[in-house]
Amino acid sequence: MVRFLAAVILTFGLAACQADDTPVVSFAAQNAGDTRIAKTLFGAMQAGSVQSPQSFGGYARGCQAGAQQLPETGPTWQAMRLSRNRNWAQPTTIDYIQDLSRFAATQPGWEGLYVGDMSQPRGGPMLTGHRSHQTGLDVDIWMLPPDRLNLTVQERENLSSISMRRNAGAYTNDRWTPQHEAIIRAAASDPRTARIFVFPGAKVAMCNSATGDRGWLNKVRPWWGHHYHFHVRLSCPPGATGCTDQAPPPPGDGCAEAEGWVDRILNPPPPDPNAPPPPPRRELTMANLPGQCLNVLNAN
Ligand SMILES: [Zn+2]
Repeated sequence: MVRFLAAVILTFGLAACQADDTPVVSFAAQNAGDTRIAKTLFGAMQAGSVQSPQSFGGYARGCQAGAQQLPETGPTWQAMRLSRNRNWAQPTTIDYIQDLSRFAATQPGWEGLYVGDMSQPRGGPMLTGHRSHQTGLDVDIWMLPPDRLNLTVQERENLSSISMRRNAGAYTNDRWTPQHEAIIRAAASDPRTARIFVFPGAKVAMCNSATGDRGWLNKVRPWWGHHYHFHVRLSCPPGATGCTDQAPPPPGDGCAEAEGWVDRILNPPPPDPNAPPPPPRRELTMANLPGQCLNVLNAN
């Protein structure tokens, strides 16, 4: 386990938002043998495909048809970093964000939500950043409480979120508030949610303060990074046959596991001299994606 974690940390530790463990699925389709690098093709798409909405494949190995764009500003949200053109998602995700932002706006100090990266117009791998966020079902929500929702386009490029962590993520800092917990609790309690990724210290803080029903904690998973934002991953929508769900989290509130993460932050295990080097990160080719993703790419 230690060796595994060391390898994972080496592989993924520096990037912000790479929460993915989608199983490898092989596809025999018209894209078999297509060695074109998928991120180059999907990263160049400027608009969604004119198709009925669908997610294809897994969160870190897929694409999306018929994506919608989250309106740049709504009554209880603003999409940030518009230049990235990553405010695209499946309709269920758009609805979810609007619903969650309405709840957030009931919290003292929060006018709603600042919404970070969702997916590219046709999903797929990205030229920079995330490994997941490929199917229109992932969204990053900023930890910064919005005090106004009239940020200009330029302000949305320049404004930064704020970190919630202390001691490298073992603990929350003094910016963490009961409102953060209330919003994450609401996000996790939504039946559309599969998982929420947040830094380990936040999960343990919520484990310690949660009262009443603790079922929602099951979906809140400790992960690297995720102290400037939390990441919501929705389940495949009902009837989405081409969409691959992740296995559900193990039963229980996951609090002991999160405490284990914190222990390893505070007392890092010594490096294992026999640990194999992490495998090189291979770029996904079109052949690695579901066959439908070629249609998504080629559609109007
Ligand atoms: Zn994310």
